This record gives sequence, C-alpha cells and structure tokens, in this order.
Amino acid sequence: MKVGVLALQGDVREHFRALEECGVNPVAVRRAAEIESIDALVLPGGESTTIAHLALTFGIFDLISERIQQGLPVYGSCAGMILLADRVEDAITGQRTFGGLDITVRRNAFGRQVDSFETDLAIAGLTTPTVRAVFIRAPWIEETGTKVKVLATVTSPDGNTRAVAVRQGAILATSFHPELTGDNRIHRFFIEEVCKSSSSIK
Ligand code: GLN
Repeated sequence: MKVGVLALQGDVREHFRALEECGVNPVAVRRAAEIESIDALVLPGGESTTIAHLALTFGIFDLISERIQQGLPVYGSCAGMILLADRVEDAITGQRTFGGLDITVRRNAFGRQVDSFETDLAIAGLTTPTVRAVFIRAPWIEETGTKVKVLATVTSPDGNTRAVAVRQGAILATSFHPELTGDNRIHRFFIEEVCKSSSSIK
C-alpha cells in the first residue's frame, strides 16, 4: 500500500516518522502523477489556508478533491481536518477545502497559539489507555452529517461538548496532532482499520 503525505506545508516530517513506525514507507506527494499513484493520503497539520493556496498553485487542488470524493482513504490532522471539511466557520475570504467530510469545522476555535493545550482523550475504537492529544490553534467540529461517526469529544471553554475526532467511511480526521506525541495508535488505526476497510485499496 502506497501512503502519500501531502508535502506542501506543515508537519510532514512528523507524519513520516509516525507512518514509518507503523511499518509503512510513506511518500511525499506534491505533483499530479504522485497524487494519482497513491492508495491513501495524509494531510498534515500546519496552516489550512497556505496548504490550499499551494495546492491551487501547484495545480493539484481539484485532483486531490476528486480522489477523496472517489473514496481515497485520507487522514487529516488539525489543518488537515479543516481541508477535509465540507463547511468551514471562521474561514478567510475565499478559503477552499478539498471537502468530502460532512462536517462544519470552526477554525482556531480553541483560541490563539497561546491557548494551545494538551489533554488525555478516550478514542472510540482504540484500546485503552487514553491518547495524549495536543491541540495547537485547533479547530473543533460544530456539526456532523449522519454518516459521520464521532470518535472523541472535549468540553470547550464555553462548556459545550465538541467533537475532535471523526470518521466517515475512508476519511479520518482529528483536531489534534498525534504525529507530535510518539503515540502512533491513531496512525495505526488509519492504516489497519480505515484503509483496509476501503474498497479502493489494491
Ligand atoms: N489554525 C490552523 C488552520 O487554520 C490549523 C492549526 C494546526 O494545524 N495546528 O489551518
């Protein structure tokens, strides 16, 4: 299975390490032929507006979007989650996403860089113990469509329960960054559960 990491901006290297520790040899993708050749894709954390802008500049934005709509397994962390969301609150003017995940996400929902935090999260489908989750200018999910399964929630500063990890078929997304902690269970779950259950894998 050929797993690509979209290598335009963000924490590409950290996802590489996590995937390698899961026994996968990831490839950096930024050209159309590379996007065509992969069986699964990881969208890193970083800055969703920059990644979208660069994907448009490189002429691969529509191709990525099409492959996701066609069932390419994808995992997005933080900015990657925003890029997968069908709807974005607090987007910049004209901000586009690849879409495919039937959620409304709010950018920078937990606040600014100084409001970044860590917490222990129970994730549905993962064995205990909890996952140490790192949130950096993180989005939360405000709305989920009927096909979206919520895997983890946190209580936001306003006292509401917010989804921060979701799955919809072959799409997995987290508001937080497992690639920064050395705990690779989310990546392993993506490789072993999400990708394997997808019919698009050769
Ligand atoms: N706030 C960033 C964005 O809008 C995401 C931050 C992150 O990936 N750590 O893309």
